[in-house]
Amino acid sequence: MSQFEYAPALESTAIVNIAERYNLFIDGKFVTPKSGKYFPTINPANEKVLAKVAEANSTDVDTAVQAARGAYSKVWSKMPAAERGKYLFRIARILQERAREFAVLETLDNGKPIRESRDTDIPLAAAHFFYHAGWADKLQYAGVGDQPKPYGVVGQIIPWNFPMLMLAWKVAPALATGNTVVLKPAETTSLTALLFAEVCQQAELPAGVVNIVTGAGATGADIVNHPGIDKIAFTGSTEVGKLIASSIAGTKKGATLELGGKAANIIFDDAAIDEAVEGIVNGIFFNQGHVCCAGSRLLVQENIHDEVLEKLKVRMAHIRLGNPLDKNTDIGAINSAAQLAKIKELVTAGGAEGAEQWSAPCDLPGEGFWFAPTIFTGVSQTHRIAREEIFGPVLSVLTFRTPQEAIEKANNTPYGLSAGVWSEKGSKVLWSASRLRAGVIWANTFNKFDPASPFGGYKESGWGREGGRHGLAAYLKASN
Ligand code: ADP
Repeated sequence: MSQFEYAPALESTAIVNIAERYNLFIDGKFVTPKSGKYFPTINPANEKVLAKVAEANSTDVDTAVQAARGAYSKVWSKMPAAERGKYLFRIARILQERAREFAVLETLDNGKPIRESRDTDIPLAAAHFFYHAGWADKLQYAGVGDQPKPYGVVGQIIPWNFPMLMLAWKVAPALATGNTVVLKPAETTSLTALLFAEVCQQAELPAGVVNIVTGAGATGADIVNHPGIDKIAFTGSTEVGKLIASSIAGTKKGATLELGGKAANIIFDDAAIDEAVEGIVNGIFFNQGHVCCAGSRLLVQENIHDEVLEKLKVRMAHIRLGNPLDKNTDIGAINSAAQLAKIKELVTAGGAEGAEQWSAPCDLPGEGFWFAPTIFTGVSQTHRIAREEIFGPVLSVLTFRTPQEAIEKANNTPYGLSAGVWSEKGSKVLWSASRLRAGVIWANTFNKFDPASPFGGYKESGWGREGGRHGLAAYLKASN
């Protein structure tokens, strides 16, 4: 049979205008950093420098916090709630109007396929602003009493896997509830946050309501430790989440932490196998596996193991890896050299501990950071690849015989962010869901997100929820 060939379908980059150098966004303006320092941000698909980005030091963070405090006490907390809502609606509409520009920029800076940035990240980011805009004047129904009050100035630190979407998850509820913001994007993916700063200007958001300071971990720590910050909202690794929790212990700062995961995706023998295979692929290979709620531990009922694996390998052989700007690409570039090294280290450990590796046959481009979609079979619960978050396109396959065993294995992890259950029987799905210690449980699907649905974890996966009424409540205090 002749091979079906795809013609290249490259998205044009003409829509984005990347500056050589970006400053900090403080008090409604772009200002040069007091640190005088800039660092490069690269395109991980070809390692070319896209731009230089300012590195904020503690003086810069202090200026941003003061701007946020001024905007909070003079403007934002005094504004009628319905007026605040109008700004959020305006931002949401501008995000929709400029969606293509955001999607292309996200793909260039992050390495994710344009199909995902265009169809998932940016539409969902706009949806978060629309959803929270509607809440702004209805906060008495958020479950925090009749007259809920904002915290004040919120410090927000986000990761590189969904840069613009994580910004929306953080900024939209904070603004809807009347807080002002100092936000730090991840050091490898600052560009869409800086484009969002332009959107704030375009929407004529009052100066200082949103401040964006770029930099790495030290800048994040300056935000966390600043005495003028009333609450921290963080998404990132469990390791840094623990550091933040210990830094703010004993202070009055509130916190929501959305951390790592090692989700079980459970396939019962009565599941629709072809659909489950699609769900497995979506669960672990979506966004190169750079997903905290990824279905990275496949738990498959023993009697269907061989059939599932055979179909999974056929499906994986058709995954297209390559130029993220090509509209036919399924798997793009790994976000950074450091992340690629981490993935390789854990994959090597998987082999050394006795699991069997299979990688989809695909040519990896010569430049940039890439990893072929990979599965490990013969994995036991003690293997590092079954316990540690790989945060890459690597699936560990384990088996079970009874539903009880599936639940026990699924819960045998320090994490508890998400899980998937595949079965034709609703009763089995509900039985499983009530026993799984995970914040989000998908039934016969995976990686579905909606602004109205709370998201967050148990155990080392974090504190609190984001999205929905619960996420909103996390930005409010009861009036007394
Ligand atoms: P990942 O492993 O996903 O890169 P990190 O937790 O290292 O996750 O990074 C998530 C975000 O936290 C990034 O914006 C990063 O700059 C920031 N960060 C890293 N170290 C610290 C720290 N000690 N304090 C505050 N923020 C930090």
